[in-house]
Amino acid sequence: MNFVSTRGGKEAVKGTVAVIKGLADNGGLYTPASLPKIDLKKMLKMSYMDICAEILCIFFPELSNDAIIHIVNGYNRKFEGEIVSIATYGSRSFLELYHGPTASFKDMALTLLPEILKESYKIEDKNERILVLTATSGDTGSAAMEGFSGVDNTDIVVFYPNDGISIVQMAQMESANKGNAHVFAVRGNFDDAQRAVKMAFSDVELNEISRKNSINITSANSINVGRLISQIGYYFYSYYSLLRSGVIKYEDKIDVSVPTGNFGNILAGIFAKQMGLPIDNFICASNANDVLTQFIKTRRYVSDKTFHKTLSPSMDILVSSNLERFLFLTSRGNGEMVRAAYDNLQSCGEFEWGEELPEYIHGVSVNDEETLATILEVYNEKKYLIDPHTAVAYKASNISDKHCLIISTASPYKFPKAVLSAIGGGRKYESEIEELQAIEELSKTKIPNCIFSKLDYTSPKEIIDKDKIINKIKEIMEK
Ligand SMILES: *Cc1c(COP(=O)(O)O)cnc(C)c1O
Repeated sequence: MNFVSTRGGKEAVKGTVAVIKGLADNGGLYTPASLPKIDLKKMLKMSYMDICAEILCIFFPELSNDAIIHIVNGYNRKFEGEIVSIATYGSRSFLELYHGPTASFKDMALTLLPEILKESYKIEDKNERILVLTATSGDTGSAAMEGFSGVDNTDIVVFYPNDGISIVQMAQMESANKGNAHVFAVRGNFDDAQRAVKMAFSDVELNEISRKNSINITSANSINVGRLISQIGYYFYSYYSLLRSGVIKYEDKIDVSVPTGNFGNILAGIFAKQMGLPIDNFICASNANDVLTQFIKTRRYVSDKTFHKTLSPSMDILVSSNLERFLFLTSRGNGEMVRAAYDNLQSCGEFEWGEELPEYIHGVSVNDEETLATILEVYNEKKYLIDPHTAVAYKASNISDKHCLIISTASPYKFPKAVLSAIGGGRKYESEIEELQAIEELSKTKIPNCIFSKLDYTSPKEIIDKDKIINKIKEIMEK
C-alpha cells in the first residue's frame, strides 16, 4: 500500500516510511493512495485485536505477521479488562473508547503507534534516535507519554496549553515527566502549540541538528497516519458487536456521531465506510469552536475566529489538521486543489472549497450549556454517566433517525468538575479526590487507577512562552 501527500506531487511511500517521516516533503499529510474494499463477512466473528491486526496487514503489508501480532498485543500489555465496550440505550449506542492507560480514546492509537514505529525502523534499517514531538489539547500528551515512555532510542516531547486543560489531564502529564518523556506547559492555546510544533518540522536549524546527531523527528499527533490506521478497527468491531447483540441486522446502515477536534477519529470512521462498512451518516460534533460546523455548511473555512475555552477542551481547536485528508479523499485525490486551499489558509487564515462535500457529512455545534444539560439528561434517563465530549456527540445525534453510534472519547473521571457541575446539584467539593469519589458513587464504577495515582501533581513544573518551543526541542536534542 502506498501513501501519498495530500498536497499533490509524485512522492509515494510505503506505510513504514510514512510513519517514520510524519509529514510529507511538500508539507502535506501522508494518506493512503487507495482504500481497499473489505468483505464484511470476513471479520464478522473476530475479536477486536484480530480486526486491528487484519487492518494493519492491509496498510502495512511490509510488516511480518509476528510484528503485527506484537503490535496489537500492546492492548494486552497496557489495558486492563475489556479494550472497548458498548452500552446501548434504545436507538443510541455509546462506544466506550476510554478503558486504556490514560482514560481517553487517544490510547486506542497511541498504544500501537510506538510499536508500529519500532517495527518500521527495523524494516527500513534505520539506526537513528527518534524524537517524537507532540502538541496536545490534553489527551494526546498523556497517551503519547504513556505509549513512548521507556522506549529505547526515543525521546517524547509534549507541549500543552497552560490554560484550558483539566486538572486530571495535567496531573497525568506532569507525573509522566521523567526519563525519556518531557512535558512543557505553553502560554497560549492549543493552536499556538500545534502551529509551533508543525513549524519545528521545517525549522532549518533543528533539521541541521537532527542531521548532525542522527535524530529523526516525527509526530505522535494525528498528522501521523499510523494513528489513523490504528483507529479504523473499532468502527468495524462496533458494527459487528451491534449485529451480535441483535441491535441491528446484517447490512443495516447505522449513523455515527463523533466529538471532533482534529478530525482524526471521524476520518478513521470515514475510511471504514469507504472500505465497505455500512455507515450512512457521519455527524461531526463540535463545541462552541464551530469552525467545522460552519465549513460543512458553507464550504468556507475561517480559522481566525474567537477561540472559546469550553468544557470539552480536547475539542477546543480552530485548525483541524485531518480535514485536509478528508478534502483530498472526497476530491478523489486533487492535491493541487488541497494545496491551494492550505496555502490560502496559511496566508489569509481562511479558504473556500470549490467542490460539493459528500451528503453523508453533517456538522452540529453544541454549546456548554447544552453539554451540561445533556450530561444531566442522560444520567437521569439512563443512569449512565458521560463526559462533556461524549455529551456533545450525543446531543448532536438528535439529527439522526437511525441507530446511531455515539463515540465516547473520554471517561467522566477525566473531567470531574464539568460532570459534577451538571449533576452535582450545586454541591461544593473540598478536593479533587472528593470529586472523584462523587463520580464513583454516581456512576457505580471504580476510579481508574491511572487517574487516582496521579493526583499529587497539581501544577506545571515549567511554563514557557510559545516562541521558546523550538529552543526546548533543541536542548533535548543536544542533550
Ligand atoms: C482528541 C479528542 C477528541 C477529538 O478527536 P479528533 O480525532 O482530534 O477529532 C475528542 N474527545 C476527546 C476526549 C479527545 O481526547
